[in-house]
Amino acid sequence: MVEISFLGGVRSVTGSKFHIKSDQSRILLECGLYQGLKELRLRNWDSLPVDSRELDCIVISHAHLDHCGYLPRLVKAGFSGSIHMTEDTARLASIILLDSAKMQVEDADYASRKGYSKHAKPQPLYDYLDAERAISLFRPHPFHTPVQITGDARLTFLRAGHILGSSIVDLEVEGKRIIFSGDLGRPNHPILANPDPIPDFEIAALLLESTYGDRRHQSTSRELSTIINRTTSRGGSILIPAFAVDRTEVILHRLKELMDLNEIPRLPIYVDSPMALASLEIYRNAFERKAMDIDPKIKIDGDPFDEHFYQAARSVDESKAIAKLKNPSIIVSASGMATGGRVVHHLARMLPDSRNTVILVGYQSLGTRGRSLADGAKSLKMHGKVVKVLAEITKVGEFSVHADSREMIDWLRAVKKKPRKVFIVHGESDAGVSFQKNLNQELSWDSTIPEHGSTHEI
Ligand SMILES: [Zn+2]
Repeated sequence: MVEISFLGGVRSVTGSKFHIKSDQSRILLECGLYQGLKELRLRNWDSLPVDSRELDCIVISHAHLDHCGYLPRLVKAGFSGSIHMTEDTARLASIILLDSAKMQVEDADYASRKGYSKHAKPQPLYDYLDAERAISLFRPHPFHTPVQITGDARLTFLRAGHILGSSIVDLEVEGKRIIFSGDLGRPNHPILANPDPIPDFEIAALLLESTYGDRRHQSTSRELSTIINRTTSRGGSILIPAFAVDRTEVILHRLKELMDLNEIPRLPIYVDSPMALASLEIYRNAFERKAMDIDPKIKIDGDPFDEHFYQAARSVDESKAIAKLKNPSIIVSASGMATGGRVVHHLARMLPDSRNTVILVGYQSLGTRGRSLADGAKSLKMHGKVVKVLAEITKVGEFSVHADSREMIDWLRAVKKKPRKVFIVHGESDAGVSFQKNLNQELSWDSTIPEHGSTHEI
C-alpha cells in the first residue's frame, strides 16, 4: 500500500512537502519553506507530523526556496539520509540555502535588537551550519537516469524547463507510478529546453502545480521595450525586482536582445544581488558544459551574463553607490517579491518619484510587498517608514517561468491513459479550483485539491 500525505504546499504556493509512504519506504518529496503571509510563515516553526529521523530520503524538484528551503530545519531536527536532486539544482540550492540561513540569523538578530520578539533571545529557524550539513547530504543525479533510492522506490528526473536544473519527478514506489509536475516551465523559455512530456505509462497519482491555474499570461514582445522607452523619455530609471535565480538571467538575456535590435537605449544595467551574481556563474557554467536542459538552439553572442554587459554590485558599498546615480539606468535586484534583500532599499528610494518605473516580473505571493504593489497600493511600509508609491508600477508577463492554465493543459494532453488519481497542489485556493474546472472540461479528468495534512491512499 502506498500513501501520500500533503504536509505543505497545498492551497498555497509555498511550503511544498509531500510524504510518500510504502511498506519499505518513507520519502519526503519536496522540503519547501513557507513564505509570504504570517499565518503560513508561522508553520515553519511547527514540527512535521513525521519523525525526520525515520525518513529514508528526500527528493527535491528544484532549487527555489519554497521547494528546498526547509531542508536545514529538517537536518537540525535529526534527518541524516540522502537528499536527491539534479546536478544544477544541487549547485543552485547550495547558494540559496546558505543565503537563507544568513537571512534567518539576521532576522533573529534584528528581532533581538529591536526587542519585538516575545522570546528573550529569538532563535533563527536554522543557521549556517545547519545549511552546510544539509548540503553535505545532497546526492546529485543527471536527468533521464533512473536511480534506486530505497528498497522499493526508483526515481527519474525529467526536465521541467522552469529554472536551470528544475525537474518533473517520476517516482515508482512499490510498482506504482507517481508523477509530480514540479514547477512546470513554459514552452519557449528563452534559455531552457521545453518541459519533457510525461512518459506513456499507467500513472497511479499525478501531482500538478497550479500557480497560474486561473490565468493566462498576456504580454506582447514589445511590452518591455515600450515601458523602458516611456520611462527614459521622462528621465526616470527602471527597477526590476527579480528572483535571484533564473529571472535575472532571463531578464539580462532579453535586455541584451532589445539593445542589439536598437529597440531600447544602451542604458547602464546594475545587477545588485550577491546571490543573483553567484547564480549567473552557474548558468554560464551550464552553457559551457552544454547542460542537458539548456536549449541547444540558444546562441550567446557577446554573452549577456558577462560582466561587460552589466555592472555587478557585490559589496554593500557598491549597492549604495547605485543610489547616488543621477542618469536613467536599469537596476535588477532581489528579492523578487520585495520581501527582503537590497531591492527594498531601491524601492524606498525610487517609489516616491513619478518618473521611475518598477517592473514586476514574477508571481507575487499574498502578503508580500510585491503583491501590494501589483494590487495598486498607494503606499508601502518599509524599514519602519511609510513610503508613497508615485512611480509607475507595471507587470510584464513574458518573464513568468510557470506554465499558465492553457500551457499546463496542452502539456497534459499528451497523457494517453487517464491517471488514476490527480492532485492539485502548489496554488492559492482560487487558482486550484479554477484549474480543477479546466482539467474537467478539457480533459474530463477528476481531481482532488487535498486538505493540508490529509493522507490519501493511491
Ligand atoms: Zn519554482
